[in-house]
Amino acid sequence: MPDLEHNLHAVSERIALATQLAGRDPRSITLLAVSKTFPAEDVRAAHAAGQLGFGENYVQESLTKIAALADLRASLEWHFIGPLQSNKTRPVAENFDWVHSVDRLKIAQRLAEQRPAHLPPLNVCLQVNVSGEASKAGVTPAEAAEVAQAIAALPQLRLRGLMSIPEPAETIEEQRGPHRKLRELFEQLRAAGLDLDTLSMGMSGDLEAAVLEGATIVRVGTAIFGARDYSN
Ligand SMILES: *Cc1c(COP(=O)(O)O)cnc(C)c1O
Repeated sequence: MPDLEHNLHAVSERIALATQLAGRDPRSITLLAVSKTFPAEDVRAAHAAGQLGFGENYVQESLTKIAALADLRASLEWHFIGPLQSNKTRPVAENFDWVHSVDRLKIAQRLAEQRPAHLPPLNVCLQVNVSGEASKAGVTPAEAAEVAQAIAALPQLRLRGLMSIPEPAETIEEQRGPHRKLRELFEQLRAAGLDLDTLSMGMSGDLEAAVLEGATIVRVGTAIFGARDYSN
């Protein structure tokens, strides 16, 4: 198992340094530990080291893990961050606290219908394709306002903000461009009256750029759990 305590500390230090450069309060950023492909025991160890939120990408894998960690359910948060097909929304609506990857209205409508009444509203982010690649999920920046207004009106959901997964880029300046775009869009939606507080952007390779551009949640996998192995 990786030295999770050490890795979590190192990532927190990176966030702290970036917030210093940005003149931001380190407490304004939440670290989401992306545990996809890693076993439940790694999540348990990270939780024991103080980590609260965990991000998962694959429905079946996450359900197995959530069940294995049922004893911790009240003291951790599960965030779904992967591509979501409309026929897989029900278990996500029933088991997660957040969904960052809502990329069309239909998915939000299904999550709203399927969120059990006894649970608090599901926190959701609208995924925006800021780099504009044809292959990437997410609404276009031009569509975002209309879709966000429609999601905000749905019951049993709470629209918290925007999420993006930009193309990887080498330099911090290149990395900041798409993050800045998402932040500007976020500010436009707030100015239009939407009550948003979350910008989910930045991963292991670009979290500093994201913090400099206003991220409130950074989603970090590799820098915490190590390189992923997809062979099984
Ligand atoms: C896998 C993944 C991450 C984490 O990426 P790392 O580069 O390992 O930090 C973050 N966000 C999403 C949506 C992911 O799928």
